[in-house]
Amino acid sequence: MVRLENVHKWFGDNHVLKGIDLSVKPGEIIAIIGQSGSGKSTALRCMDHLEHIDKGSVTVCGHTFGENIPKSDLKMLRQDVGIVFQSYNLFPHLTVERNITLALTSVKKMSRSQAQEIANTVLAQVGLQEKSRMYPEQLSGGQQQRVAIARSLAMGPKLMLFDEVTSALDPQLTGEVLRVIEKLAREGMTMVLVTHEMAFAMKVAHRIVYMYQGKIHEQGGPQMLRDPQTPELKQFLDNGL
Ligand code: ADP
Ligand code: MG
Repeated sequence: MVRLENVHKWFGDNHVLKGIDLSVKPGEIIAIIGQSGSGKSTALRCMDHLEHIDKGSVTVCGHTFGENIPKSDLKMLRQDVGIVFQSYNLFPHLTVERNITLALTSVKKMSRSQAQEIANTVLAQVGLQEKSRMYPEQLSGGQQQRVAIARSLAMGPKLMLFDEVTSALDPQLTGEVLRVIEKLAREGMTMVLVTHEMAFAMKVAHRIVYMYQGKIHEQGGPQMLRDPQTPELKQFLDNGL
């Protein structure tokens, strides 16, 4: 589903990714952890070609690209991959339902009624069916984030990428978003999640990847967090962020 091979990325002379190799199998759930600035978000964004890579290759859902990707492939890539960020980026002037159906009618050229049916399905998946007529500002942060997840799911992705989707939320709202992700995990969705929620990572991830200074420094099963092998990971876990 994902294969990064020797991926390098520079921002100016800041060498942000220094040869990342990472494979994700269908149905696998990978949690990426690490200090702020270690390159987690950049690595994730490279998987959706939101950042171009400077060296190496990326294969995601059968689409292979290096520094560039043809426009037609990019369009297909974006249909196969859903990405959700810390900020939900919902359109404030559109209802929850329209936020979800917009890409379906404009990008996927579906009829309004077909799109509405899908919106109902994905809103039920995140437990927000009754909110379809509301506007984003009428919802809590946790609910808005669940709408953002539903909007991604509506496109029928094969792979979901989550970048610290609970970081902006109060602790009591974090749980409801994590439960949605857990449910997706049980349904077999392939996912890569960048997270600071260590207990959550241990619970849902098949594999944990610890990034340090632009490299994968340590990776392993969830137990790795109980028994870190490198001093850097040990210190990261001891000191928190
Ligand atoms: P993390 O998600 O682990 O906190 P990031 O991938 O966001 O780390 O950032 C890694 C490094 O790349 C940091 O030094 C950051 O300042 C830099 N960086 C990230 N995005 C950009 C950008 N768009 N332009 C310039 N530098 C960036
Ligand atoms: Mg980040």
